[in-house]
Amino acid sequence: MGEFKSDIEIARAATKKPIQEIGAKLGIPVEQLVPYGHDKAKVSAEFIRSLEGRPEGKLILVTAINPTPAGEGKTTTTVGLVDGLNRIGKKAMVCIREPSLGPCFGVKGGAAGGGHAQVVPMEDINLHFTGDFHAITSAHNLLAAMVDNHIYWGNALDIDVRRITWRRAMDMNDRALRQMVGSLGGVANGFPRECGFDITVASEVMAILCLAADLADLERRLGDIIVGYRRDKSPVFARDLKADGAMTVLLKDAMQPNLVQTLENNPAFVHGGPFANIAHGCNSVIATKTALKLADYVVTEAGFGADLAAEKFFDIKCRKAVLKPAAAVIVATVRALKMNGGVKKEDLGIENVEALRRGCANLGRHVANVRRFGVPVIVAINHFTSDTEAEVAAVKEYVSRLGADAIVCRHWADGSAGIEELAHRVAELADSGQAAFKPLYPDALSLMEKIETVASKIYHAAEVTAAKTVRDQLAVWEAQGYGHLPVCIAKTQYSFSTDPALRGAPEGHVVNVREVRLSAGAGFIVAITGEIMTMPGLPSSPAAERIALNPEGFIEGLF
Ligand code: ADP
Ligand code: MG
Repeated sequence: MGEFKSDIEIARAATKKPIQEIGAKLGIPVEQLVPYGHDKAKVSAEFIRSLEGRPEGKLILVTAINPTPAGEGKTTTTVGLVDGLNRIGKKAMVCIREPSLGPCFGVKGGAAGGGHAQVVPMEDINLHFTGDFHAITSAHNLLAAMVDNHIYWGNALDIDVRRITWRRAMDMNDRALRQMVGSLGGVANGFPRECGFDITVASEVMAILCLAADLADLERRLGDIIVGYRRDKSPVFARDLKADGAMTVLLKDAMQPNLVQTLENNPAFVHGGPFANIAHGCNSVIATKTALKLADYVVTEAGFGADLAAEKFFDIKCRKAVLKPAAAVIVATVRALKMNGGVKKEDLGIENVEALRRGCANLGRHVANVRRFGVPVIVAINHFTSDTEAEVAAVKEYVSRLGADAIVCRHWADGSAGIEELAHRVAELADSGQAAFKPLYPDALSLMEKIETVASKIYHAAEVTAAKTVRDQLAVWEAQGYGHLPVCIAKTQYSFSTDPALRGAPEGHVVNVREVRLSAGAGFIVAITGEIMTMPGLPSSPAAERIALNPEGFIEGLF
């Protein structure tokens, strides 16, 4: 791919407009933008309040087939589609998550799109940006400090130090911090106890910030966080420690959506970034709701494949925030479909229509799943230079048999000019009134039945198994009044099953729920299947080894 420029080279060459001009495209007055430098700004809370009662645009979800190491390009397609919609004369904007430093310095790289479909300033967005993650980390750790401090000063709340569930957080992949003993070193340092760190994107504070409707709702949810339990197993809340007020203060600015621009100077909110396994994996509700009042089409992304992220987007975010998505785009690549059909990564360059047809079963399952939510679907084939005509034709034919369309998109190579057809079709689909969104299950179903519904309808599992302790725990939460919450299933993103090696569209597998957690502030029950990491580690050769400043002062190696 020597003839192609890297993502960072393209981003650096962008002709950016001052952020005030981008705000003006959305009708945001200059005094209602809080600039962070020349090309980033937060939108004021006052302006957001003034939008109350305005009509809303159409919400379009970009999701994907199960990811493979070959990469699908959801963010790239989200950004490209907005540039395409604007190119055909529509008023459209992007709403995506903020990247975490962990993947930036680890394996995956940043998350600002790619090629000629990116949001800029790419380096800032991928690094410290407007400090939201710092604020979330600080609020999280303030609560942790207040837990141990409360115990140090006599433990009036009678917290059982063996049952503290609130850990500490940091936005870095650091396996050394996963499990440790804190408060060592003598009387002055408190009571030694086991503790550990999670990465900031796995923090419940992140999920709360992304689901809160406004600052009052944020404070209420922060107060609802359960930090641990007493000996009688009754929960202790952040509110009991009087931490909710100060945490809200730390998060006050982080609650405001961040405005940036695409390479083609179209507006984008990049705000919040919860994990897509133990949390719901989409940008903030406040950014999405604000965007819907400012643009006619809002294109948003949900992380991972549609079995995890789209399901959570619908069943958690849309249910709670009363959002009604008008259409969904499922991103597929010939490469990833071939991998789903059994081709090894090193053989991806060789045409293989047979394997591709087999792998299409994965795409077909996702199309059917998204339709279950009452949302009409279109498939975007994110075009790679190695794709052959016969392979592309086979995908189109397969999708047309499902009664949907698959459109080839070349936004990565050509920007908006490469994605006009998809833009036309998405606008038509969103305007058609076909959507009749409904979540997969009602609030009233029991927690175990909710898990079983997702497992059978979305994953096509035959059975859900769970130890008695897990079932008993769910029953306790139901008795405590948490039974109405939706479930957030943490599962591998690589398969419909809990076995990452099982590609394609497996049926009849068993989903074992190993552990359940209550995110009482965020408002969901997490059901953990398989090994889910809340503090990732770095690989043997992390991307950080190749990131540096060049003699001109530009960042190299970020991708
Ligand atoms: P996702 O959001 O699905 O994780 P991204 O949109 O972030 O994926 O893309 C992942 C990487 O793949 C980026 O570095 C991007 O430049 C690259 N990429 C995306 N689409 C293409 C394409 N059509 N051709 C080549 N590389 C691509
Ligand atoms: Mg992405």
